Amino acid sequence: MVPFNVTVLGNGSAVPTSFQNPTSQLLNYNGKRFLIDCGEGTQMQMIKYNTGHKHIDNIFISHLHGDHYFGLIGFLNTLHLFGRTKPVNIYAPSQIKEIIDVQLSAANTKLKFEIKYTFTDKIEGVIYEDNNITVEHFPLNHRITAYGFVFREKQKERKLKKSFVEKYSPSIEQMHKIKQGADFISAEGNVIKNDEITDPPEPSRSYAFCSDTAYYEEIIPYIKGVTLLYHEATFDNSQQDIATEKYHSTAADAARIALKAEAKKLLLGHYSARLKDRSPLLKEACEVFPETVLSEEGKTYEI
Ligand SMILES: [Zn+2]
Ligand SMILES: [Zn+2]
Repeated sequence: MVPFNVTVLGNGSAVPTSFQNPTSQLLNYNGKRFLIDCGEGTQMQMIKYNTGHKHIDNIFISHLHGDHYFGLIGFLNTLHLFGRTKPVNIYAPSQIKEIIDVQLSAANTKLKFEIKYTFTDKIEGVIYEDNNITVEHFPLNHRITAYGFVFREKQKERKLKKSFVEKYSPSIEQMHKIKQGADFISAEGNVIKNDEITDPPEPSRSYAFCSDTAYYEEIIPYIKGVTLLYHEATFDNSQQDIATEKYHSTAADAARIALKAEAKKLLLGHYSARLKDRSPLLKEACEVFPETVLSEEGKTYEI
């Protein structure tokens, strides 16, 4: 299987502290990297964890609360200073353009590369697609317009059985069709069913990013069966009232969503700065959904 993983650069909420940074993640699919949110300090975290910033062509911003994008102008400026000329694609609510434009204009900076925007509040469904993956966005339930993202591997090809290839020596064109599900017709006209000569493909993996949001069951159809679910857990159970008031989730809320969505694994983050000890979050989530992990900055999680 090709590498598919996510590195957490920042897992805190609202304000930076000495022990956590605002939200940012670097998703890697076989060497192609996608930046998800770009809170203040994202560049510094990239330097600290030696991730580099090359080969990032696509930046996804969930919403326009500062803890999810205040690092963006700095990051773009660094790409400019390093001489980047390749366009950068930004997927974000439409006000992002005005924000970036005014900052560049005030500094009299003319970027050496083009920014291509996809405004997530103007379209629905799939916002990114290449040969291997798709990215779909969906609405969260937050104080301002906010979107989650789900990165999905495309359906893979069936695998030819070695014994079949050795016995019948199919042409490249035939092999291609069989991998897509076609039956094999021999030179004598005999039909051999596809499932006799192939093995099923490896299951497609997927990653969902859900931050920031209150408990919101409407997201479940979008993330059903996801391999790894990142869901915000700003508060613990004892702070349910604040979570509801601020349109955030508790760890138990995140776990209930993971359970109902039949996720394979749950990754928590967007921790409140007031919670220095995160073990209560893990405990309350595991009571509902045992396959829960607390995200740690600088760590990479396989999908
Ligand atoms: Zn936030
Ligand atoms: Zn927010």
